[in-house]
Amino acid sequence: MISTDLLPADKDPMGAAIADYFEHHKADRLRVFSSQFDEDEIPVKELFRTEKQMPLLERTALQLATGKILDVGAGSGCHSLALQEADKDVHAIDISPLSVEVMKQRGVQHATQTNLFDERFYESYDTILMLMNDSGIIGKLENLPAFFLKMKQLLRPHGCILMDSSDLRYLFEEEDGSYVIDLAGDYYGEVDFQMQYKDIQGDSFDWLYIDFQTLSLYAAENGFKAEMIKEGKHYDYLAKLSLQV
Ligand code: SAH
Repeated sequence: MISTDLLPADKDPMGAAIADYFEHHKADRLRVFSSQFDEDEIPVKELFRTEKQMPLLERTALQLATGKILDVGAGSGCHSLALQEADKDVHAIDISPLSVEVMKQRGVQHATQTNLFDERFYESYDTILMLMNDSGIIGKLENLPAFFLKMKQLLRPHGCILMDSSDLRYLFEEEDGSYVIDLAGDYYGEVDFQMQYKDIQGDSFDWLYIDFQTLSLYAAENGFKAEMIKEGKHYDYLAKLSLQV
């Protein structure tokens, strides 16, 4: 089941890091834990990247975004601000109360604390943006039908979803170029994360990295067509998903 909850401020480590960086122009370490990987960090500064600092996949998505745009999991609002600069109409949503507050202060005109999967969230858009591996919020492959159903409710007939993700296959690559993936196990792109900023610890959550082929299969089964727009340098890519006609 996909969570439809919002975060309370005391369980919002990324939002706290974003708020700190916004106020003081610097932040502590935003630590990331996972049962599958070693401890890692998200450089908070990168959450405030300008359009010029964005990877090509993201800049391409911004250029392709048209009409009424939904920025899902908008974080500090970097993509929404770039779209506003280009006079585009964008609604930014995030479950993080602290991030939404920062977005408003940074000038994002339409920012709301909304969970994408909340059934009361019922508007219609021409473009739905899910950037910075935001396929993650789908959590698990088994949630893809629910995700596509939600997308059908939110998308206008000729609308599309622009989503970037990564194929985690490279993590399982052997020196001889073969892969050690347990085909009977869970899909290798299903991971769990937990974040911590100062003494604020978030709950553990599921995050989905999905390869393009798997995404295309699920899209076709759920009435969508997947198109590869651009491949990145490191197993990452930007896909466009549109309703099958
Ligand atoms: N898009 C931003 C931030 C990516 S991090 C950037 O590129 O910098 C992912 C964001 O998604 C976080 O801010 C998190 O709070 C938000 N999020 C997670 N699940 C969500 C959901 N179900 N609905 C809306 N936002 C969600």
